[in-house]
Amino acid sequence: MSYSESVNDLFVSQLSEWDLARQNYQQLGNVKVKKIDYGAFSLVVQFNPGRITSSSAKVDTRSIEARPCFLCEKNRPVQQRGLPFENGFTTLINPFPIFKRHLTIVSDSHIDQRIQGNFEMMLKLAKAIPDFVIFYNGPQCGASAPDHLHFQAGNKGFLPIENDFTVGRLCRRHSDNNGYELWLWRGYQRGIITLKGDDTSSLIKAFETFVNKFAVKQSDRPEPMLNILASYSGGFWIVHLIPRKLHRPSQFFAEGDSKILLSPASVDMGGVVITPREDDFNKITPADISDILNQTCYSENELLPLIPGD
Ligand SMILES: [Zn+2]
Repeated sequence: MSYSESVNDLFVSQLSEWDLARQNYQQLGNVKVKKIDYGAFSLVVQFNPGRITSSSAKVDTRSIEARPCFLCEKNRPVQQRGLPFENGFTTLINPFPIFKRHLTIVSDSHIDQRIQGNFEMMLKLAKAIPDFVIFYNGPQCGASAPDHLHFQAGNKGFLPIENDFTVGRLCRRHSDNNGYELWLWRGYQRGIITLKGDDTSSLIKAFETFVNKFAVKQSDRPEPMLNILASYSGGFWIVHLIPRKLHRPSQFFAEGDSKILLSPASVDMGGVVITPREDDFNKITPADISDILNQTCYSENELLPLIPGD
C-alpha cells in the first residue's frame, strides 16, 4: 500500500473512532465563505470558528513554556493515532480543519520549528502525498507550536494560488536554472518567489541560497520569517516561498470596531483568508485584506534582492 493510501485509511478510521474530529470535519461543510474579487485574481474568506485557538494563540516564549505542548505524543488526545513518516515524523489528522483533508505532520521529538535542515523533508512529503499541498509556517508567522517542528498538509484544489500559478496570468518565468525554474509574481499583492523543478538537490540548493540572503535581512530572528507551500505533480515540485515582515497586522491588536482577528499564515497567503469570528467575516473588505497583506508581506519589488542565483 502506498503512503497516500495509508493516509486515506487513517482518515477513514479516525473519522469513525474520534467524535471531535468527525464533528469538526462535518461542520466544515457548513462554514461560510465569500469571494473577494480583485479583477486579475480573487481570494476566498472562510469564517471558521474552530480556528480561534490557533489564530489567537499566544506564541511568546513565556506562554509557550507554560503550556503542555499539544504536538508531543504524551499530550495528544488518546483518540489521535498517527502514521510514521520517514525517520522521525508522524502524520496526524488535524482535528480543527480548514481543508476537507487536513493533516499535521509532526516531528517525533520536541525540537524548535525550523525550516533549515528540514526543507528536504518537505519535498519528500509533497512527493509521498501528491494529492496534498504541504505547508510550513515559521515560528513567528503562523505556527501555534513554534517549539515543536511540524508541517501541515491540505488537499489540493482548495487554495487559489494553485490555479493562479497554473494559469500563469500574474507570474512569469524569471530564470531557467540547472534543475529548477524561478518564477516571479506581479500584481498579486504579496511578494512570492516560486521554484519549480524536478531535481531535489537543485531545489534545496536554491532554497538555501534564498534563506541565507533573507537571514541577513532579519538577522535578529531565530530564522527569517517564512511561509512555504509545496506540492508535487507530473514529476515536478512547485514551491512558493512567501517571506514575511510582520507576524500579525495592526487590526489584530485593535480594539472595538476596528479589530479584525486575523493572524495570517500559509493558507491565507495561498488565498484562503481565515476569520474565526463571524463579525470579522461579515465586515472585512477587499481594502482591509490588501492592507493586511501589505503590512505582513514584502512587496514584489522588495523581494528582488533575495532571488537565488542573482
Ligand atoms: Zn512538543
